Amino acid sequence: MVLSGKLYAYNHSGEVYPYRNFIVPNGDGKTLLLLKPRGFCAGVVRAIDIVRIALEAFGPPIYVRKEIVHNRFVVEELQAKGAIFVDSVDEVPNGERVIYSAHGVSPEVREASETRKLRVIDATCPLVTKVHVEAVKFAKEGYSLILIGHRDHDEVIGTLGEAPLVTQVVGSPEQVESLTLPDPDRVAYLTQTTLSLDETKDIIAALRRKFPNIQGPHAQDICYATENRQEAVKQVASEADLLLVVGSDNSSNSNRLVEVARNLGTSSHLIDSFRNIRAEWLEDVKTIALTAGASAPECLVEEVVKFLATKGFDNVNEVEVMPENVRFGLPPEIVEAIASAPAGVTAE
Ligand code: SF4
Repeated sequence: MVLSGKLYAYNHSGEVYPYRNFIVPNGDGKTLLLLKPRGFCAGVVRAIDIVRIALEAFGPPIYVRKEIVHNRFVVEELQAKGAIFVDSVDEVPNGERVIYSAHGVSPEVREASETRKLRVIDATCPLVTKVHVEAVKFAKEGYSLILIGHRDHDEVIGTLGEAPLVTQVVGSPEQVESLTLPDPDRVAYLTQTTLSLDETKDIIAALRRKFPNIQGPHAQDICYATENRQEAVKQVASEADLLLVVGSDNSSNSNRLVEVARNLGTSSHLIDSFRNIRAEWLEDVKTIALTAGASAPECLVEEVVKFLATKGFDNVNEVEVMPENVRFGLPPEIVEAIASAPAGVTAE
């Protein structure tokens, strides 16, 4: 909404929160709105720090199960420093160090690591661990579990593994209709952390209609970073002719940002880097909004800003929709490694 020539947003408490540094486009030049918060979340910063510090403190080889975060650039950078990415712990030689990705693992993977006497460092995001804990708790209490999410996503595979015999995965309200459960009065739902807030609301509503006594988590599972980035897109999408999201195509939260913009009628594309921007996307476009998924590094955003400036989008305004200051602590193995390492090994 436009108030007295400035843009404003509402924060989660419903207070008016003024966009910072925003200049309303004067209609002459082309404008780039740089959304904030964007890019790395606390779970991704932690996971990347863990791999970087492990490489510095212990030296290669350090094995990482699956992509540490879903971003090609990040994975290639860590590979260049000596990290070895594997699909399964079976590929890790006995006794070596392995890091679990931010998306988490199932108990089956933890057992396989134990059998192979691997030295595990767990980079699972604490907000994903929270969902695992909820799954175990509900299953122990005799509930059937409905996990809302994308069946093939690493996070969902890990959470599902906590209680595979009592968990079913659903990805749409239509799928809710075909669910059958042993006791429709003893059912609980959980969600993947990186879903679309709006679509998840629809699925939960369908679940409540079908199972009126369904239980849910105490606090919603969609994480703060997913929510904040989607909220920023919602607030700004109508001001832009085009919304670009920096992120890899296997990044769930990045894909959801594109969907949020498109659902609001704004043309939107996911780009791994400025190289993916097509000339035809910029035709007749006066204002571009730019954001980045939770696993996309800021250096890629900066490259996009520079590229778009060469195309005339040099009126750059950072639009801060809400502040974000979340940090997560490092796991004990890494804290100890920092304490006993020579000077120079630090968390960023
Ligand atoms: S997107 Fe959310 S759940 Fe995923 S790593 Fe980041 S903070 Fe954790």
